[in-house]
Amino acid sequence: MTTTPTVGVLALQGDVREHVEALESAGARAVPVRRRSELEAVDGLVLPGGESTTIDKLLRIFELDEPLRDAVKTGLPVYGSCAGMILLADRIEAGIEGQRTLGGMDVTVRRNAFGRQVDSFEADLDVVGIEGAVRTVFIRAPWIEQAGPDVEVLARIPSHASDGSRVAVGAGKIVAARQGRLLATSFHPEITGDARVHALFVTMVRAS
Ligand code: GLN
Repeated sequence: MTTTPTVGVLALQGDVREHVEALESAGARAVPVRRRSELEAVDGLVLPGGESTTIDKLLRIFELDEPLRDAVKTGLPVYGSCAGMILLADRIEAGIEGQRTLGGMDVTVRRNAFGRQVDSFEADLDVVGIEGAVRTVFIRAPWIEQAGPDVEVLARIPSHASDGSRVAVGAGKIVAARQGRLLATSFHPEITGDARVHALFVTMVRAS
């Protein structure tokens, strides 16, 4: 692997530019991916957040769903954030009728898991493999409800907030995980100006 890997950002919906910038500051060359030929040219891929049901439909329209499934199966490193986490999950709870995922991670994700009252929130979390707390932003986020034995849990929602109050929703739920070359977070690291999650992924791409 070259020292500057090329990492694609699926560019059908979501924070494409922010992911490109975070990847570049993490030492990768970042390129948008909309076509099969573009997918074939990358060493790793980011699936941004957005709306997983829409991305599912767009993947089929752009005829990227099968190539992407194959790429995941044959070991392309992929990082999915929020809706991207949903796409990487083998199983989905609270999906819409007919919603499909790409799969690859032996997890069950719950869509919109935090519910209406805590639609969006921020938290400082410890993430395995990253030194110091990570400021995380959750936007109508999923969580991982169940994870198989090969899944490494990287972060959970704590039971207490930094002010000492009990966390009402989601305490203990998995919000970051890794399985082999796949990385998933419930939160959006691309909008905080902190590229450490992207750097973790770039390290995975370099190692592959
Ligand atoms: N709720 C969205 C979904 O189900 C995910 C939200 C996000 O990616 N910010 O796809």
